[in-house]
Amino acid sequence: MSLLEFENVNVYYEDFQALYDLNFKVEEGEIFACIGANGAGKSTMLKTVAGALVPRRGRILFDGQPIDHMPTYKRVEIGISSVPEGRRVFPSLTVHENLLIGAYRNRKGPWTTDTIYELFPLLVPLRKRQAAGLSGGEQQALAIGRALMANPRLILMDEVSLGLAPVVIKRIYDAFPTLLNNGTTILVVEQDVQHVMTVAGHVACFLEGRIKLEGRPSELTNEQITAAYFGV
Ligand code: ATP
Repeated sequence: MSLLEFENVNVYYEDFQALYDLNFKVEEGEIFACIGANGAGKSTMLKTVAGALVPRRGRILFDGQPIDHMPTYKRVEIGISSVPEGRRVFPSLTVHENLLIGAYRNRKGPWTTDTIYELFPLLVPLRKRQAAGLSGGEQQALAIGRALMANPRLILMDEVSLGLAPVVIKRIYDAFPTLLNNGTTILVVEQDVQHVMTVAGHVACFLEGRIKLEGRPSELTNEQITAAYFGV
């Protein structure tokens, strides 16, 4: 059984259809990356998994169980946790307090403040600092750490590398194998195609609300990806 399954999922913003008959499966223990141009529907897909949007038709299964009408907090309880777009953290709280908030619907699992600080040592000297003063990369590490504190089986990440320096992006991506080893599956939306192709087990390229191309990175050529990305 797949960890996450989309079955003919159609999502609308009022009259505007953003996702068309979306079908895909994410297997436990993999990094599944979604790429595609602005407006292709990637964030909409993630919001639908998190529970912020409800499909008008079709359904979403998590570990075989339909979740499309489950409220967001329940999804967190069964193991779906999001790193929000724009790496939102609570600015007036300290780094440590931000992490503790992530554990408010605590599930049993490997992630504690200690293991998060091990994963992102850059956060250790900042633990008593207000999150407002952190750099973009530090905020991203904190946002990921906070999401992990819920001990998710599936973590959703939107635009992980947006606006970050290459060295910082590398640090974030270097943490991914540790997540997988700890039993966390990763569903990531990414603009940085080159980078994500080196880590993902599976890539789906979105175009105008549909998946135009899907497969293992090693099976896809640059020409195919470019064609799917731009819809040529
Ligand atoms: P980006 O990288 O720009 O976030 P994306 O692939 O994540 O792109 P979405 O944000 O999912 O794309 O947007 C898909 C479509 O839905 C776009 O046409 C967008 O304009 C539209 N859309 C997104 N949010 C809303 C909203 N709140 N109300 C109406 N339309 C929306």
